Amino acid sequence: MRTVRGLSALERAVAALRKKGRVGFVPTLGALHEGHLSLVRRAKKENASVVVSIFVNPLQFGPKEDLRRYPRNLRADAALLKKAGVDLLFAPSAEDFYKNDFETQVVLPGLSRGLCGRSRPTHFAGVATVVLKLLNLVRPQALYLGQKDYQQYRVLKQMAKDLAVPVDVKLCPTLREKDGLAMSSRNIFLSKTERQEASGIFRALLEAKKEILEGVGSATSLRKAIVRRLSLLRGGKVDYVEVVDAESLKPVVQLRLHRQVLVAVAVFFSRARLIDNCLVRVGKK
Ligand code: AMP
Repeated sequence: MRTVRGLSALERAVAALRKKGRVGFVPTLGALHEGHLSLVRRAKKENASVVVSIFVNPLQFGPKEDLRRYPRNLRADAALLKKAGVDLLFAPSAEDFYKNDFETQVVLPGLSRGLCGRSRPTHFAGVATVVLKLLNLVRPQALYLGQKDYQQYRVLKQMAKDLAVPVDVKLCPTLREKDGLAMSSRNIFLSKTERQEASGIFRALLEAKKEILEGVGSATSLRKAIVRRLSLLRGGKVDYVEVVDAESLKPVVQLRLHRQVLVAVAVFFSRARLIDNCLVRVGKK
């Protein structure tokens, strides 16, 4: 595996990879875990080479968020990626990636408004901007994203469609710990008790999925039931619970009027905000 830090070194290295066939790309913030590696494995299966980026992108962190203390461990990450058979790791510095006069922003106001966008109003513009630039540099045939960040997937899929970016955007399942907690680089910020309580997020989602499949009609009562359940988590504070259409991300009223819905939640613990979701096919429409 080669590691490059500069933008022109990256372009030269990917030019060589492209000659060998399809390139799959996995953008990350680093502090890698099995969830990230599952994306890499899928990319390896479907492409001749795999490029991974590790970049704690300042644009996607709000002024009061955890940019400074976001876990960074490039050496350990590189070892994991090498073992997973990644061809090229791109790990730029923020100064190099965003020159002083950088000013462009990619904004998708509709898809970015709800869910995480409510408490993180500038987050998805930061994500769309960095990923479009990364795609322009790497020019991969396929982009691999995790379902845990489903809103991010929808934003990037829509961006690729709207701006005719020639990339296939692939959604990969959320990898979980044994007790169901979605793997996340931020889980290390949980205390022991919080870590135990946090598995209740997945149980609440499973319960919601069951209720939808059993035919609960109103999204409002479903939402209220999930909020009630999550409020019982000691040390947790519900940021949001939403039932939205899986494509438009607009709030759902009558579940049966939608083909597929997303139940998405975010919960604050003392040092980490955790998100999770489940997709449920309702069937009609
Ligand atoms: P991040 O480093 O948190 O920006 O994540 C990089 C990519 O890995 C994103 O596409 C995430 O959705 C994905 N990802 C993060 N956690 C998981 C997980 N538990 N399972 C699958 N994919 C994940």
